[in-house]
Amino acid sequence: MAKQLTFPTNLLKPVGDFLKARLASLKINKKKISSEDPFNDKTRDLDNAATDTEAEEQFGHARVTAIKEELNRKSAQIKKALARVKIGKYGICEDCGKMIDTDRLAVFPEATMCINCEKKREK
Ligand SMILES: [Zn+2]
Repeated sequence: MAKQLTFPTNLLKPVGDFLKARLASLKINKKKISSEDPFNDKTRDLDNAATDTEAEEQFGHARVTAIKEELNRKSAQIKKALARVKIGKYGICEDCGKMIDTDRLAVFPEATMCINCEKKREK
């Protein structure tokens, strides 16, 4: 008998729900962080801004941009994992087709690649 080749079906729904909840909270975070971007502050006065204020704003904007990029990256990864749930391939490495280690899925539920393939891709 072949070993278990698919992610347990009874766990697909809870995992899907979990990923959806994560995605929703990422969306909220993105909104929140956008509102912290000084560049979004319509009341700021470009002409009269003191240099140190300007620098602070630049820094604030860079920080917000970095966080937003990270959130976008995470959202994209979760969406990918959700798509895998939908087609019933969640927990299966999209590269080599082997089961992803459940320990890995426990800490990184949005994983769509096994640790070996992920490492290969990072190189
Ligand atoms: Zn793999």
